[in-house]
This record gives sequence, C-alpha cells and structure tokens, in this order.
Amino acid sequence: MGSATQDHLLVLIIGAGPAGCAIAQGLKKNGISFKIFDKAKAAFRNRHWAFTVGWSRPFLLELLPEEWADRLTKCQVDPFIDCEKTGNDEIVIYNGATKEGEFTFPIPGAKEINMKKLRMMCAESIDVQYDKRLTHLEYDEDGAIVHFQDGTSVRGTVVVGVDGANSQMRRCLLPEAAATPDLLPFALMNFVASYTAEQALFIKAGIHPLVDIAIHPSGHYIRLNVLDMPDLDKPESWTFQILSTWPIKNVEDYDNDADRLKRLKAHVERDGWAEPYKTAIECIPEDTEILKDQLKIWKPSPWDNHGGRATLAGDAAHTMTFHRGQGANNAFRDAFVFVQAMKQVRSGECRLKEAVDAYDKDVVERGMKEVQISKSQTFFTHDWERFTTSPVMTMGTRPCTDVETADGASGK
Ligand SMILES: Cc1cc2nc3c(=O)[nH]c(=O)nc-3n(C[C@H](O)[C@H](O)[C@H](O)COP(=O)(O)OP(=O)(O)OC[C@H]3O[C@@H](n4cnc5c(N)ncnc54)[C@H](O)[C@@H]3O)c2cc1C
Repeated sequence: MGSATQDHLLVLIIGAGPAGCAIAQGLKKNGISFKIFDKAKAAFRNRHWAFTVGWSRPFLLELLPEEWADRLTKCQVDPFIDCEKTGNDEIVIYNGATKEGEFTFPIPGAKEINMKKLRMMCAESIDVQYDKRLTHLEYDEDGAIVHFQDGTSVRGTVVVGVDGANSQMRRCLLPEAAATPDLLPFALMNFVASYTAEQALFIKAGIHPLVDIAIHPSGHYIRLNVLDMPDLDKPESWTFQILSTWPIKNVEDYDNDADRLKRLKAHVERDGWAEPYKTAIECIPEDTEILKDQLKIWKPSPWDNHGGRATLAGDAAHTMTFHRGQGANNAFRDAFVFVQAMKQVRSGECRLKEAVDAYDKDVVERGMKEVQISKSQTFFTHDWERFTTSPVMTMGTRPCTDVETADGASGK
C-alpha cells in the first residue's frame, strides 16, 4: 500500500458520536474522502448528556469549520452564558451536606456541551449513513471491508472504529476477553428531569453556572446541570441532567432495574443533602425514566491494526469513568491526531502503516494512563476523607500526558 493508498485514500468511520463526527468534520475540512456509518436510525436520539470540554477545545475547533466557533457556544447546555467572560470557567467541588465550595479547579475557556446538540450540528453537513450496524471486518490488498448487519458491505483504505464503550470494532481487533470492558462496583444513575417553573428557577439559581459537582461525606456523588434551555423565559421547558454514583453496598443496588428513582430519593433523604440538591432530587417527577446503567471501563491494550488498515478512537479506544471529566477531551484529541495522520498519508509524508502505528501509540499510551487515573479518581470521589489525595488535587482536569495545545493547556 504505497502511492495507491495516497491517491485513493478513503476513510471509513464507524460511529457518528461526538468523536466520529469530529473526525468526519476534520477529514472534510482537509478534503480527504470518507464515509461515516452509525447503527442508530437517525441523528436524533433521546439518550444524551452533557460533558465539559476543557483542554481539548482547541483540537475540536481545529477540526470544525472555522465559522463554527460561535455555533459551538450554542451547543452549550446554557447557551445564554459565557463562563469564560464571567470567570466561572472552573470546576468547583461542593460538600453535598453543606453546599460549601471545598475545591476549585480552573479550566480556561471550558464549555459544558450538550452532546445531542453537538452531534446534530456536526451531522447536519456530513452524510451519515444510519441504520448501519458493524458486524465484522475483512482485509484485502487495497484495505479493509466493513460488513453491516443488514448484509451490505463497503470497502475503504482504513477503518476507524469510533463506536463507543461497547465497541464492536474493538472486538474485531482483539480477542473477546481482551475487548470486554470491566465493571466497577458503583451504582450509576444518569438521566434527565424536568420541573415546574418555580422549581427550575430555584435549582438553576443554586447551581454553579458551568456544571455543579457535589460529594456528600457519606460517599455519594451528584453532578447537576441544566441540560437544555429551549426558551429562556419558560423555565418549565428547561431540562436538567442528574448524574449520581455511590458505592454498591447492598443487594438492592446490585439489583439495578427496579425502583431506581425511589432508591436515589431514599439515599438522598437518608444522608441529608443541602439545597439545591435536596429539592432537585425530591421534586423529580415520579414518572421520570432512569434507565439501567453500569460504570464500565476499558483500559486499552495494543490492538492489531492490520498494517494500518484498522484502528480505534474515542470511548472505543479507551473507556473511562467521568469523575475527572476526561473521556470526551481524549476523544477529541484522538480525532485531531487521527486527522493529522491521514493528512500525512495523503501528502505522501508517511505510509499508512507508519502513520497509523504512530497514531495508535499515542492513543494507547494516553488511554492506558487516563483510564487508570480516572478509575482511581472514581474511588477517591466516594471517599471524602481521602479526596485530598486524589488525582484531581494534583492534576486538576489537565491531560495526563503532554499535549501542548494552541491555548497553552498542557499535561506537564
Ligand atoms: C454521564 C457522563 C458524563 C460525562 N462527562 C464528561 C465530561 O465532563 N468530560 C469529558 O471529557 N467526558 C465526559 N464523558 C465521556 C464522554 O461522554 C465520552 O467520552 C464521549 O461521548 C465519547 O464519544 P464517542 O464518540 O467516542 O462515543 P459515543 O458517544 O458512545 O458514540 C458512539 C457512536 O457509535 C455508534 N455505534 C455503536 N456501535 C455501533 C456499531 N456496531 N455499528 C455502527 N455504529 C455503532 C453509536 O450509535 C454512537 O452514535 C461523560 C460520559 C458520561 C456517560
């Protein structure tokens, strides 16, 4: 695969989540051919959440069309604020029992991004082929052939699997046992709630403008933020994201399907949370759906990239917990490095194998470190007494390796 690759470079992207869309946008911006597929039926999906984009923001902006910097602001959960201007581009960890801000970590230029808005914005100018679930891969002289559940297949020069934590692509590159994520022993609830106008105003006024993170000394974590504000003047139209974790200590928490809202409310009432957490949990409407969730991690082990014809990015390449807020940041870093690699192949600066080997090395080394650090952060997050010895106290939310960025954020 020499100059033929260079002349006919076609990238196949499996997964149109935030990282897959970022890769597609970056390839489009650089005039590199690609096709992008997703198993979902459409760009719109009910299940979504928010993530804090910090050190990876310059990488993401580099991949998106230049004129989109403003549009990224509109993908914020609260599009009406600019936390950088108000000096609120920081994470504050509150004591859940008192609402006192205990620890503060600055994140210059941070934005709390609504994942659905970002995905819909990115998908609008690229031709995502939906209802295409990857099943398996084959390889030939010219590259790789991806096969979908509907019986169709497509040939490309290189395939990048950006298909999330339960990646099928990962299972194509590694034996099943090595590709399977590990479960951590924590209850996890991640869902969307709506309130009356009065309750919504009260909760919004009481939370940090970027994202509100609280740890109760009993060992319970709650992250609370507005998820969408379709109409500033109609607080009853706002939705809130509630993300909660605690160590599994009894059989009810293992039995993860039934009475999930009842259990969350009982935990909060038992431990005595300060406002606005108390109201935010107490007033969740009883018919609110809380789907079963589990805290999963996958620490990358080097995969066979078949001579540079197949690789992974985003959560597929490193599945980490969110207690240090690094998953999306690393996913956008992967997307940036992958697009750089493809530019080198297209220009003839590198052969495909060389470029993808170098990309894989960066992703695997960074991913291995961060999955481990984030896992450790998860355990410390639920141990109030020892929180001060946790990774965020020394590293904040900076990257775990040196990834000097345009705005000077560094992992050093
Ligand atoms: C509650 C929560 C809070 C978080 N907070 C933060 C934060 O503050 N900061 C941060 O940096 N990160 C955070 N993260 C992590 C972040 O959300 C993820 O790292 C990010 O969404 C990963 O994007 P992705 O595109 O790699 O994967 P995904 O978003 O999982 O997208 C994968 C896509 O692949 C598609 N797909 C799956 N299987 C197939 C298949 N077989 N064939 C075709 N398509 C397929 C799916 O439909 C999906 O569209 C958080 C995560 C959670 C759950």
